[in-house]
Amino acid sequence: SDKIPLKRGLPIPQGISEKAFLSAIDELRTAIGAENVELNDKEVNNGWYMEHPNTHDMMPLFDVEEFIASAVVYPGSVQEVQIIVRWANKHLIPIFPISIGRNLGYGGSAPRVRGSVTIDLGRRMNKILDINAEDYTCLVEPGVTFYALYEELQKRGLGDKMWIDTPDLGGGSVLGNTLDRGVGYTPYGDHWAVHSGLEVVLPKGEVVRTGMGGLEGSNTWQCFPYGFGPYSDGIFSQSNYGIVTKMGMALMPNPGGFESFMYTFQNESDLAPLMEIIRPLRIANILENVAQLRHGLQTLSIQGFPRAKYFKGKGQMPESIYREELKKTKTGDHAWVYYGMSYGPANIRKFKLDIVDAEFHKIPGCRKIDSKTLPAGEYFWSRDRIASGTPDLEELRWVNWMPNGGHIAFSPVSPIRGIDAERLFALAKQRHAEAGIDLMPAFCVGLREMHIIVEIVFDAQDADMKQKAEKCLRDMIDDAARLGYGEYRTHLALMDQVAGTYNWNDGALMKFNNTLKDALDPRGILAPGRCGIWPARYRQRGWEL
Ligand code: ADP
Repeated sequence: SDKIPLKRGLPIPQGISEKAFLSAIDELRTAIGAENVELNDKEVNNGWYMEHPNTHDMMPLFDVEEFIASAVVYPGSVQEVQIIVRWANKHLIPIFPISIGRNLGYGGSAPRVRGSVTIDLGRRMNKILDINAEDYTCLVEPGVTFYALYEELQKRGLGDKMWIDTPDLGGGSVLGNTLDRGVGYTPYGDHWAVHSGLEVVLPKGEVVRTGMGGLEGSNTWQCFPYGFGPYSDGIFSQSNYGIVTKMGMALMPNPGGFESFMYTFQNESDLAPLMEIIRPLRIANILENVAQLRHGLQTLSIQGFPRAKYFKGKGQMPESIYREELKKTKTGDHAWVYYGMSYGPANIRKFKLDIVDAEFHKIPGCRKIDSKTLPAGEYFWSRDRIASGTPDLEELRWVNWMPNGGHIAFSPVSPIRGIDAERLFALAKQRHAEAGIDLMPAFCVGLREMHIIVEIVFDAQDADMKQKAEKCLRDMIDDAARLGYGEYRTHLALMDQVAGTYNWNDGALMKFNNTLKDALDPRGILAPGRCGIWPARYRQRGWEL
């Protein structure tokens, strides 16, 4: 772990003197306990995934002191969250809630506004409040990770009865990931779609429960997400309208069997015809999970070796080199690999897998990799665990591609069509070639759309490479918007730009978002700038990036 002394000293938020800030911090110490308030005035420590920092982005695209907290506070209850919010209103100090803060590739734990006070909810509010084995639901606090929920099911002897759904990395918060609309890889992979019920501390300090939670004594909070009246949950995801302190979530019944499969395809040009095959199978639920179609170069990078092992030159690794290297791997040379899973008892799986096999083999050169030939350490088994609801960390391996590896993604959504896949792939390919960056796209196929995740791995110590990565990302976002595509989620640094692409009817959507922001958070204290939403006192005053 590398400690970096702060060059600019204590990052005091703009608009407040050091004296006033420190006295406000003292007031907060008295209110919630000095041990629950930490000033960030000495150094930052990048740590690593398991011991991640809560003060800044451990994979910074800009200078590490740009998106950085002045202090971190650890509330232990909903009441303490209310105290912190009211304190922030009183002193006009920006606050930024995180649950765990492992949001890798999207800004980690960093606040958007330098000097914000980070509210680390996860450290002390980390209880699994309920697991209901009859309804197959749970109710969790912000600090519950996918690992913790998984382990609790095993501990209670319910692991055989019900599954969780986990994203690629299991160390994140169930609640945080869901609020950011992250995905996993079982049939319950759309986390937002399977959540039910939120408890939220609003920016002025009131607490609300959404859906059936609005009815005192309801036993249906985790079963029926809507309740009566406007469905308000949506405004609390990818926003800065509230601090979520509880969330309900559906758990998946054990389907009675599962079987991972893996197909490879030889040519980049197989992409479009393959998408045409995938779409109807996915919509009909023959392909049942959020599967991944990945680029061959990712198969190489996931081996976990630095790129320099294969290629020492500058710029993109030539295709001829990585395809030669792929030939030496257990899964062989390919342009694309499809990871999927079939669920249910053997006879039901066979019915579906036979259809998939016949359809995929319409692509010349398609190969099914026999999983029995793959050793235990092979990445395939990581996908197997994840698609069957077992948290994992193997996905971190490709960050080793670069020294001081950081990553950041371009992640547009589109229908599951060949033409869309081709267009997005082509623009990413062009912009990566211009920037000299290795291209590693993955297509995560939902029920009617796909998330295209193009991860850029950069050397966090290499300013030139980071500049190229930023330009590449910004170009791709603009190119995609011109073609009618938008991102499903983005890094802190790119939120204004992405929000700006959702500009139909003279930016009517952002005007609506701003109206909500000003009504709910008139003092503009909660996560200013998150998702491109700025409170009135920041708006168009030079904060937008
Ligand atoms: P992870 O689950 O990957 O560790 P985080 O806890 O960092 O993710 O959450 C991702 C993002 O979602 C945060 O940057 C924050 O903006 C938002 N967020 C997380 N938890 C909450 C919460 N309880 N209330 C409001 N926003 C939250």
